Amino acid sequence: MHDLSRLSVHTMTTKPWGLEDACRHFAEAGIPAITVWRQAIAPLGVKRAAEVVKASGLRVTALCRGGFFPALDGAGRQKALDDNRQAIDEAAAIGAPSVVLVCGAVPGLSQAECRKHIADGIAAVLPHARACGVRLSIEPLHPQYAADRSAVTTMAQARRLCQQLNAAGRADVGIAADVYHIWWDDQVEAEIAEAGRLGILHAFHVCDWKVQQSDVLNDRGLMGEGVIDIKHLRACVDAAGFTGDIEVEVFSNTHWATDQHQYLQKIIAAYRAHV
Ligand code: ZN
Repeated sequence: MHDLSRLSVHTMTTKPWGLEDACRHFAEAGIPAITVWRQAIAPLGVKRAAEVVKASGLRVTALCRGGFFPALDGAGRQKALDDNRQAIDEAAAIGAPSVVLVCGAVPGLSQAECRKHIADGIAAVLPHARACGVRLSIEPLHPQYAADRSAVTTMAQARRLCQQLNAAGRADVGIAADVYHIWWDDQVEAEIAEAGRLGILHAFHVCDWKVQQSDVLNDRGLMGEGVIDIKHLRACVDAAGFTGDIEVEVFSNTHWATDQHQYLQKIIAAYRAHV
């Protein structure tokens, strides 16, 4: 049981709400922080979205998301760079200190080729991110998404990319550690500790892994509905020196179909009980 001072909720978690409703209802519920998805910005435009977020008084934890660097041709790779620079601009506009990267993968390219495109892509947009004061947070994804969403599937791969890309002593590129993606990894404790030592642990996302999932993307569990020992991973990030927001990121057709006000209260209760 703990207070809500570090709780952040992703707009995608309460997807039926637009950005204005999410900001209003999160603030009314005593949630101090929000992670904003670009899908929530798009209907308003970035200028209006920035006004809405600022007026809400919520702290902006991050912008989701950039990435998807690998492509089969040069035009596709260039398009990805342009899109990532735009995401960085949007983050700066809404006051988000970082952009979360779902790094990408493309059928037809090997995982190694994809990771080369990812490293080159992040290196290409990094100067713009630094100029805007925005950090880039690599989110390793569970290997079930290796074919088409991310060739970065472990904390160790993400850490090596950070070490390759960061200038000495900098942490402009870091890791967004999401319990859904990393809980199964026998190196997870060691890698969280190493990320902390290197100063590259940017973010911590929570939700749960249900044993039976009806959808590969949109059937995540709320904390406590699955098998992840979230408190253990929370203890690991605490021990690694992580003091940032703890972000509830749940994609769930089941929960999206319910009353979102009641669901928000469930999120708060689950956060208190299981994180
Ligand atoms: Zn996440």
